[in-house]
Amino acid sequence: MKNILLFSLTLLILAGGVWAWTTTNPAADAKPKDVLVNPVLYADPGLKQPLEKERSGFEVQHSDAEWKTLLSGSEFKILRRQGTEPPFFNKYHNHKGQGVYQCAGCNQVLFTSDQKYDSKTGWPSFWDAAEEGRIRYRKDDLLGWTRVEMICSRCGGHIGHVFTDGPKPTGLRYCANSEALAFEKKASLKAKE
Ligand SMILES: [Zn+2]
Repeated sequence: MKNILLFSLTLLILAGGVWAWTTTNPAADAKPKDVLVNPVLYADPGLKQPLEKERSGFEVQHSDAEWKTLLSGSEFKILRRQGTEPPFFNKYHNHKGQGVYQCAGCNQVLFTSDQKYDSKTGWPSFWDAAEEGRIRYRKDDLLGWTRVEMICSRCGGHIGHVFTDGPKPTGLRYCANSEALAFEKKASLKAKE
């Protein structure tokens, strides 16, 4: 009986300790990245114009005519015209290979297979980007409600949207179009030259 009491007391002290640590330790409730809290609030203020009007601020730039020669028809529609491919009928929603997902427009690595998960939405989904700064965010009201659009920071290509119903640790769902991505079996985050 004494042992049980002692055990319960130890448990109680431990639980109290954990509670005190999680409520007082600043690291426990620190915000890992601004955008992880609510991407809408942190949408890139520099990206308010329709994509086709944005010609500055991106390292990789081409005219529409040039993009049309560089991309397939469906890639152009998604990357340069904010199109959306049908769910499930796309190449990467169920893709499980180990490697990286590059922007189909400029080859910048945007995601890795380590961050991919099955969201059951029919689109390739990731809980985080490969590295901070590779994706820019823009408030998108095109459908009559607010979504957060994700754009490749190197070429300005439309990749998809980010939602806040993703899994831990970020709670985010980076919902991408397969046609905006190109999978490569490699570990490096460096863009293909
Ligand atoms: Zn790009």
